[in-house]
Amino acid sequence: MEQRFKNILEMLVKYQTESPPARNTDPLQDEIQQILEEIGFEIQRIPLYKNDSVINATLRGKDPTAPKLILNGHIDVAQVGESSEWTYPPFQLTEVDEYLYGRGVADMKGGMAALLYVLERLHSEQLQPLGDIIVQSVVGEEVGEAGTKTACEHAPQADLGIVLDTSEQMAQGQGGVVTGWITVSSRETIHDGARLNMIHAGGGIYGASAIEKMTKVIQSLNELERHWAVTKSYPGMPAGSTTINPAVIEGGRHPAFVADQCNLWVTVHYLPDENHEEVIAEVESHLNKMAEADVWLRNNPLQYDWGGTSMIEDKNEVFPSFTLPIDHPGYHLLKESHEKVLNQPLQSNMSSTVTDGGWLEFFGIPTILYGPGELKEAHSVDEKIKVTELEQFAEVLTQFLKEWYKHPKKG
Ligand SMILES: [Zn+2]
Repeated sequence: MEQRFKNILEMLVKYQTESPPARNTDPLQDEIQQILEEIGFEIQRIPLYKNDSVINATLRGKDPTAPKLILNGHIDVAQVGESSEWTYPPFQLTEVDEYLYGRGVADMKGGMAALLYVLERLHSEQLQPLGDIIVQSVVGEEVGEAGTKTACEHAPQADLGIVLDTSEQMAQGQGGVVTGWITVSSRETIHDGARLNMIHAGGGIYGASAIEKMTKVIQSLNELERHWAVTKSYPGMPAGSTTINPAVIEGGRHPAFVADQCNLWVTVHYLPDENHEEVIAEVESHLNKMAEADVWLRNNPLQYDWGGTSMIEDKNEVFPSFTLPIDHPGYHLLKESHEKVLNQPLQSNMSSTVTDGGWLEFFGIPTILYGPGELKEAHSVDEKIKVTELEQFAEVLTQFLKEWYKHPKKG
């Protein structure tokens, strides 16, 4: 492995950009900004949270009207937790046999290091792109924060996006995921002693327990989940991927009262060709019909709060889905570059997890997830990546970019 390549990865791993707790990535973004500035990129730095910001770095093409390419990566890493379980120090790159160890080497500081290294190399060969090349160095991916979303809001409409996150060098699309809170809330709080008047003949109290009403919500969600499982499908996604998980429930205030509030936190998975807005509308419409048929819920409507911009700040997240643009000439170029370097066909499928790629497609940019590292290594103890895999990935990227610089592609 080239020394410079290794040095960049070493530097990336050294910064403890764990998320959670997050709010710790600006010092590393400063380093990345400097590397990119030195090779001619213009920097746009957009604040996200305290000590967290995202970078849109643009290498201006010779022709401002030529197709533009976005290369996206996140520099936050999953929490290490009990680092004593690690054989090697998590924030110090360690090479043992043919592997490199350290937090983020697979997810996805390895991919970022390869990108920076390759861009430096192309610069030293004095290659200049025809169309703009935009590098997005983002944060917040590990906790569903809107890093890539924010970067895209400030980036030009590109013609292709490649997300270099963990994909074992397969070209991948993904299903989406959105979380939400469903709330049952009563206008009045009824004392436990009055429960008999609420549920028995002649009691005269028109009320309900929010907890008991929530059981109807859960049951309805189960029915919808079953219905989706047999009616929805997408090539490459396992049957029944469209799950609705009632993940967390909280409700009631004290045994002396009938529960006047209950909140259910759900995780909804949807297919690559669906979007979160239509899926949310489906869930709400289904539940509202159930509620309409309930004599109490019809007057105490369900409340919804979907997909915020941070798991840390507002306990919600959304990772939009995306399909693979297999007819895009840029996809063919990536396929060719991959096959030339690895001497085997580029596999394409759907990721079993979620990445920021969905945000690019959300903004209308055809997107491919293609990066080094194995998914089982991401977030793991003694996270590792094979040296040859990183080298091969950098070589594919070099081949791809050399051609793209000359002949940028439109979809
Ligand atoms: Zn990742």
